[in-house]
Amino acid sequence: MKNVLVTGGAGYIGSHACKALRAAGFVPVTFDNLVTGWQDAVKFGPFVKGDLLDRAAIDAAFAEYAPVAVMHFAALSQVGESMQRPGRYWQNNVIGSLNLIEAAAAAGCRDFVFSSTCATYGDQDNVVLDENSEQHPINAYGASKRAIEDILRDFEAAYGLNHVIFRYFNVAGADPEAEVGEFHQPETHLIPLMLDAIDGKREALTIFGTDYDTPDGTCIRDYVHVCDLVDAHVLGLKWLQDGKGSRVFNLGTGSGFSVREVIDQSADVTKRPVPITEGPRRAGDCTKLVSGSTRAERELGWRPARSTLGEMITDAWRWHQTGHYNI
Ligand code: UDP
Repeated sequence: MKNVLVTGGAGYIGSHACKALRAAGFVPVTFDNLVTGWQDAVKFGPFVKGDLLDRAAIDAAFAEYAPVAVMHFAALSQVGESMQRPGRYWQNNVIGSLNLIEAAAAAGCRDFVFSSTCATYGDQDNVVLDENSEQHPINAYGASKRAIEDILRDFEAAYGLNHVIFRYFNVAGADPEAEVGEFHQPETHLIPLMLDAIDGKREALTIFGTDYDTPDGTCIRDYVHVCDLVDAHVLGLKWLQDGKGSRVFNLGTGSGFSVREVIDQSADVTKRPVPITEGPRRAGDCTKLVSGSTRAERELGWRPARSTLGEMITDAWRWHQTGHYNI
């Protein structure tokens, strides 16, 4: 069986990717520093505890496992924090990724799947966001991801390192079997915070801004189920292995939901009220981020199967109630 090096395999999306890779016949080798991930989430292949700022540790992982490809999820990913501590984002995300990309090139590993983000597009009014849209990130998180995309393009030109870049919209939901799920500490994301508020683990969900130029005044996002998202990664890996070359794909459904619509849907799914308070805008938030591309469907044959808002919240709620890691 072929090994795939999965950085961030102990995190939310990376752990789901490991499950999908295993199901597709690969061995996912998790490389994770456990700063934001959980060792308990590493269930589908070997684990290497290591940091991307430690080049020797990355080289050792390539030498031990000889992966045929890299899936690079490890990153700091909080928009709000990135505005307060930009240096942390540039150091961890950009320098760490540069180390990994250099190590992959040095090891002769030619296929690289990278988690990028719609935050690289920034706030563009009335623009259909497809893969050719201009990238003007308005927060350090998005800027750090855009920089890594640039590094990948340079390494392709110089060393033939082929990459698939996935620009995610908002990832939500959990493994329907609740083997893995979303768990951040501290939590900053809308749906898990809301589920905490619904079952009394926190007092209320604060809506960040009610004066945006949207129909109900709250931000609009395009939510995609984590299982659909990682299925696209397996297709992206096969795309590279088939020699189809470097490509960028948006991963979103094309449907936008406001914060208030997500709250209403959560009340429907859980049959409980959502305690809310209204607060100011969060620095770095775009008004609306919705994918305007079907390239992943057309070219990769991606078919998002679980990405209705109801299903994402149902699966997140199941994980919230039954799944857990020992911490
Ligand atoms: N949001 C909110 N309250 C929260 C957390 C998030 O109103 O406690 C909003 C946030 O402003 C954004 C949307 O929910 O419009 C999704 O935010 P999240 O942090 O989940 O993902 P992001 O879009 O930042 O990647």
